[in-house]
Amino acid sequence: TWVDFVTFFNYIIDRFEMTKERNVHFRRLFPKEAVFVEIDEDKLTQVIDNIISNALKYSPEGGTITFRVKVLDDKIEVSISDQGIGIPKENIQKVFERFYRVDRARTRQLGGTGLGLAIAKEMIGAHGGDIWAKSKEGKGTTILFTLPYDPGQEDDWL
Ligand code: ATP
Ligand code: MG
Repeated sequence: TWVDFVTFFNYIIDRFEMTKERNVHFRRLFPKEAVFVEIDEDKLTQVIDNIISNALKYSPEGGTITFRVKVLDDKIEVSISDQGIGIPKENIQKVFERFYRVDRARTRQLGGTGLGLAIAKEMIGAHGGDIWAKSKEGKGTTILFTLPYDPGQEDDWL
């Protein structure tokens, strides 16, 4: 279905904002105009839920999670940044593999199976996008993904 990604994303973030139990701030940097993309809403919700859950899990007390949507030529770039423990450089590709978890001792207590980002990679790929991570240990992590977008499409909605 066609949805305005900004409205769709805001709705998911609002749900986390209302239920979060941790003192973590949310900041949203979104375009002012609607951005229509064709997506499977259930699957994208699952992807974004996992990325936000991870960001919350690894965020420090009082930290900020920044949500950004950027419109590029033929795609949108969505990013979710936290100020948490980060991922060591040598592991940054592996977090998208099934059952991979950076540090067993560290993550055991935080729960999870290590499937979330592997599923995200599959689903973003199925949408014709890419997903990757940037991180600095001790500073934070940004998960980025793209979705195909046709800016000309907007004219058809008028
Ligand atoms: P699941 O999502 O299945 O409940 P999980 O969260 O451990 O389990 P993924 O979401 O696939 O699995 O993440 C894989 C691993 O990548 C995590 O176990 C963690 O080590 C690391 N990771 C993911 N997101 C972050 C983040 N925001 N900050 C630090 N480490 C992260
Ligand atoms: Mg996860």
